[in-house]
Amino acid sequence: MMDDVWKEIAAGAAIGAVIYLAYAGLNVLPVVFLAALVYVLAQAGGLRGFSRRFATVKRGSLPGPTFQDVGGQSSAKKELMEALDFVKASHVAEKLGIRPLKGILLTGPPGTGKTMLAKAAANYTDSAFVAASGSEFIEVYAGVGAQRVRELFRTARDTARSMGRRGAVVFIDEIEVLGGRRGQNVGHLEYDQTINQLLVEMDGLSVNDDVRILVIGATNRADLLDPALTRPGRFDRVVRVEIPDKEARLQILKLHTKNKPLAKDVDLERVARGTFGFTGAHLESLANEAAILAMREGRLEIEQRHLEDAIEKVILGEKIERRPSEEELRRIAAHEAGHAVVSEVLDAGSVASIAISPRGGALGYVRNAPRDDRYIYPKEQLENEIAGLVAGALAEEIACGSRSTGAAEDFERAVHLARRIVLSGMSPLGVVDGQSLPAEVLARAVSQTISDQEKRAGEILAKYERVVTGVAEYLVKHERMDGETFGKFMRAGPRPATSLPETVAARLRNRGRSRRRFGAGTAPGRE
Ligand code: ADP
Ligand code: ZN
Repeated sequence: MMDDVWKEIAAGAAIGAVIYLAYAGLNVLPVVFLAALVYVLAQAGGLRGFSRRFATVKRGSLPGPTFQDVGGQSSAKKELMEALDFVKASHVAEKLGIRPLKGILLTGPPGTGKTMLAKAAANYTDSAFVAASGSEFIEVYAGVGAQRVRELFRTARDTARSMGRRGAVVFIDEIEVLGGRRGQNVGHLEYDQTINQLLVEMDGLSVNDDVRILVIGATNRADLLDPALTRPGRFDRVVRVEIPDKEARLQILKLHTKNKPLAKDVDLERVARGTFGFTGAHLESLANEAAILAMREGRLEIEQRHLEDAIEKVILGEKIERRPSEEELRRIAAHEAGHAVVSEVLDAGSVASIAISPRGGALGYVRNAPRDDRYIYPKEQLENEIAGLVAGALAEEIACGSRSTGAAEDFERAVHLARRIVLSGMSPLGVVDGQSLPAEVLARAVSQTISDQEKRAGEILAKYERVVTGVAEYLVKHERMDGETFGKFMRAGPRPATSLPETVAARLRNRGRSRRRFGAGTAPGRE
């Protein structure tokens, strides 16, 4: 920033000096000419340096990883390959009037294999591969970013031609840095020009180009992207890349120990179990660390304890959250199972998958089946959603005898929904004037709405206790359950509520009366 200011001051001073000299009757033309020459040379130098950088990064980097080298990520691989089949058959697709696929967005945490997948995509389509990172495009000087985007696409074409390939994959990592929402970086027209240039390049791509280009972007923050990027004809496909579950970790470990001598006592399954939350990159360095430990001891084979020690080392080095204890896992599993069962009972077919694995601050999640967008919400649906939300904490209480802080976000969301019910006139208060409604009245209505739903959720959980327990046990073992398996558990059926331990059933029935704290601590607001 300071640099910038000084450059402007210097430029201002120089222009001032030239004007002064001209005014004083001197011939200033040579000075102006010289200044222009220096400027042009500086620009050209900058560009040369840049194209060299792209070129050295990836020219001739084939053969790189293929899809077989990527462990886990089965749904990402499948989606990606399906999309790439269109690219491969683009001329057929064109005859059918299918819009050519120009861009694919890979979203997911760092180290999960997005770069690998992009390289595999290049291999799969027999394309050249050129990579850049979003941050390389952002500089203080207007126009540089846009120029770099042009340069990147040119490098891709040149590389493909020199390798005799018909296609090129342009991979842009951290695309949110260059593709963030326009107009949000005050005083930085630069961002806008850069992303505009990317849009221009992508809009100009055609199946008839002598080198067919596919742009693959990677980000962990798809929410920051300018909506123009995900419009049809640009990044049409979004492929989620996830933190691997146990099965996927085992696959990745096998891949990364393939070329390493393992002792007989090695149990990779056990290593996979002990590496909850590890990404592919973490597992790669685990395998490497284990080999180093073995070498230090003068062994010629990697033993189980080397792998175990390497787990610790990677956890410390990378600051990975420790795997939750068995007890914590049981709690998380029961919590998620509770959400899933109540949501499914109230809205059949709504659960797509359940997982206990870290994602965005949460330790587990239930993924809902995609539904049509809604613009208005019937009261019943809001209530069902509240019931599903509070079911997490209720299930914890049944399974572990107590609640935990893990449910704080659920409650926040439940309170938010309950307020919507009250403020849009759907509570027993009838139509209310949000502006003049006393805070305590609102708080009481919100709290009542939630405790009604807690009661409903409690009844469902009591009836389906066997399902909740079964699902939770399965999750502790496998970390993830797909919708189909969940359906089987649900169909296996609830057990009669009478066989519940009487204390639990009674506690749940009385729930409505004993809980009044929701919403009480929240300041009244308007929505
Ligand atoms: P990202 O682009 O998502 O940050 P990378 O593709 O750069 O992740 O992964 C970094 C390294 O981690 C890879 O070179 C590879 O060794 C390892 N890795 C990551 N994910 C996987 C995976 N799914 N299978 C095998 N190795 C992986
Ligand atoms: Zn929850």
